Amino acid sequence: MGGPAEWRLFAAAVASAERRLVASRARAEALTGRSRVDSPYLAPLRARASACDSRPHGRMREILDAAAFDVHLARRRRRDAEPYLARRYPLAARGAMARRARWSRRLTAWDGLVGADGPPPATLVISPTALEQYARCPRRFFFERRLGVMPPEDPEASEGLQGRPLGSVAHRALELFFARWIQEWTAGVLPQGRPAEWQRWLDDAVAQAAREQAAAVASVPGLARLQQEAVADALRQFLTAETERLEQEGWRPEALERSVEAELAVGEGLVVRLPNRLDRVDLRRDPGTGRPVAARVVDYKTSRAAPDPTHLEGGTSLQLPLYLLAVARYASLPVDCCEAERVALREDGWTDRATLPGIHWQAMEPSLRLAVGELARLIVQGSFPGAPVTARECDNCPFRVVCGPEAWRQARRKAGEPSLQALAKVREQAR
Ligand code: SF4
Repeated sequence: MGGPAEWRLFAAAVASAERRLVASRARAEALTGRSRVDSPYLAPLRARASACDSRPHGRMREILDAAAFDVHLARRRRRDAEPYLARRYPLAARGAMARRARWSRRLTAWDGLVGADGPPPATLVISPTALEQYARCPRRFFFERRLGVMPPEDPEASEGLQGRPLGSVAHRALELFFARWIQEWTAGVLPQGRPAEWQRWLDDAVAQAAREQAAAVASVPGLARLQQEAVADALRQFLTAETERLEQEGWRPEALERSVEAELAVGEGLVVRLPNRLDRVDLRRDPGTGRPVAARVVDYKTSRAAPDPTHLEGGTSLQLPLYLLAVARYASLPVDCCEAERVALREDGWTDRATLPGIHWQAMEPSLRLAVGELARLIVQGSFPGAPVTARECDNCPFRVVCGPEAWRQARRKAGEPSLQALAKVREQAR
């Protein structure tokens, strides 16, 4: 309570206002959140203002109510108000902390730096596709491979050979076709030069594959029939050329859907074991001894084009060189006697092939070892930042709703952090 002198001073201050008088008060203490008792000077001001004001909402306005006060504090991002806000709004406080951490120049747990599971392992088992996915964006890898959050299938993507169900039909049909090929060739009754016989095999294979995938192919029976015919036509064209090529070049398919591991020692005591499932393995054998002299792995993809297999694309294209290693191991041959081939099949029968001959191995090996080593070490260390190769990666990513639209810019601010430097090294050097 002020004494008479203070009241006189207050009255003089009020009287000196020419157009507008703004009186402010603190409703709560910023640090503790305790509400504060109004100053006794405010009561006569309120009474006078209400009496003088005939307009509906009055001129006397409470500028800040309790919630607005909190919003005001939060907007000003005052560090000294944080303990108070954190107590009142724990979730919002965590959000604010995450936001600040993500925009900082350091990599934190809020960016996906979850840390190692335990002491560094001597071996990491990881598939080549998982490594490629990590290279594309570690956080997406984390969501899908560690948390098991899979984005829903795009229903439109299942229309055409590119869709996953129809891709599976094509894979299975090729497996069935070549299984029969191997069986009859081994028995010495292969119908060479009798295309009608091949066609019958293929139609049987497609029909069986479609039956096995019936639920996935299409829920509309007519559409399933059309899709099945489209797959059969595309495979017919591919296999007509493929069986001719096998005869001319002396390759024999000998194994299908074979699991073979590639293994790379990547330094610092870490060995990376890379399980592969090889769609088809062809061998060339010495006519005299019958021993394999060359091996080839054929990988079918129901994608639009087969990328250049001699490029590692910053770690996002590792599969073919690792297949090369795996097939060499399968056939017990030196890598330079092997080749890895990717065949991209399209529903209109168009086929694209990309072959990686083993003679490229020596030139590619250092970059491959670097990419596999750095990516594996980052995974072992538990580093999963949102670090897509380009901003466009986020545009097409189903996790954008979680990461927000600025993930790429946030990652760029942290480019000096060791994990991101290691990733940048792979992207720059494993070309
Ligand atoms: S939105 Fe971007 S940062 Fe987030 S997971 Fe997808 S690609 Fe990675």
